[in-house]
Order: sequence, then C-alpha cells, then structure tokens
Amino acid sequence: MLHDLLSLLFPEVCYACDGVLARGEKYICTGCNVKLPYTDFHAHGATELNTLQRRFWGKVPVRFAFAYLHFRAKGRVQRLLHRLKYKGAQELGEHLGLRYGSLLSEYHYPTEFDLVLPVPLHKTKLRKRGYNQSDSFAKGIAGAMKLPWNNNTLVRTTNTETQTRKNRLARWQNVEEVFRVAKPEAVKGKRVLLVDDVLTTGATLEACAVVLLAAGCAEVSVVTIAAA
Ligand SMILES: [Zn+2]
Repeated sequence: MLHDLLSLLFPEVCYACDGVLARGEKYICTGCNVKLPYTDFHAHGATELNTLQRRFWGKVPVRFAFAYLHFRAKGRVQRLLHRLKYKGAQELGEHLGLRYGSLLSEYHYPTEFDLVLPVPLHKTKLRKRGYNQSDSFAKGIAGAMKLPWNNNTLVRTTNTETQTRKNRLARWQNVEEVFRVAKPEAVKGKRVLLVDDVLTTGATLEACAVVLLAAGCAEVSVVTIAAA
C-alpha cells in the first residue's frame, strides 16, 4: 500500500529512456531491454572474429576482450552510462555486471579467469564521486561469475584528467606513473579480468594491462559495459 503510494508520487524511471517503470521492472524497462545494442564479442572468444580484441593487437597482449553493449552517442547506452557515472546510479553498474556476468557464465568463461579488477579512479575523483562506476560493474561481473574481486590491488597514482589532451606517445611514456599494482603478490601468475565502463581508444585498459603484466600476472583480459 505504502509502496504503491510512493511509486505513484515518485515513479521509478527507466535509466535508458526515462519512461516510467512498470511493476516488476528494475532500472531498465522491457522495451529498452529488447532494443539495447548488445554485442556478440563473447561468442567469438579469442579468435580473430572478436573485433574488439583485435583492437589491442600490436599494443599489448589481451586474451579476451568483451563489451556488453555497443556505445552510440545520444542513445540508450549513453543515457545509461551518464546515469551511472554522473547521477549516482551506482546500483545500475552492478545490475549490468550481474547480467553480463551471467551471460559470460553461460559461455563457460568463469574458468578462464582467477581475479576481477576494476580500472581504478584517482582517490581525489573517488572522493568527489563517492564510488567508482567501473568497480560497480566489476562487482556484478565477479558476483555472477563467482570469481574473486577487489578494488585495492590496482591503483591510479595520477589524476589523468589533465592528461587527456596529451598525445598517445606522451601518454605511453608515463603509463607507469598513472597506474600501479599496489600488491604484486596478489596478481602474480593470475589470469586477470580487467573491468572498465567504456572502451573508446582502449588506451586506459592498455595502460593497466601493461603494468599488470609487468607485475607478473599470467594474462590480461578486458570487459567493459560499452565499446565505441
Ligand atoms: Zn526504457
């Protein structure tokens, strides 16, 4: 009764289209769930048909590369990411992680990884936002795949906001100043699944993969909510 009254006064809206959610719908309405631009990268494993994984060729060894959705500007995916990143919808990250993690489990991927790690935020930014959106997604992924996960092994030592204007080479040269493995013993010999929110150039994931491999992890795979 109270719940009905509250939902009448403050209806919950779909994070992808802002439409009012029907009873039983959570975060994303049924219509959007059908229309979201899902990828099929996971169906191609580490073969060359996985076009996302190919983007890392010649840069850094990445075993598997997955993204749940295709990023499209001004579309549902952009709205989802905006809610997750700037509107406090931390629970949405975990929800999407649980969904994609379940799908990856259907494809038998849990046995391919030992540890799930999110791309970290700089502590100043984390304090400002209150949460790391990639960490929320990572938590859902790890939960669905029943894999160990933590957010203190890989750390960001530099606030990269100021670096986005630098060119690729300049960024490359100070990669090791941006990310650091705080506990190398935690990644040694491990097959790490690295998690981020969006893949655009892949430079951030590449930078993390470089330091993880240098710290002794066996191999790195990547997964994001969306890929542009
Ligand atoms: Zn919707």
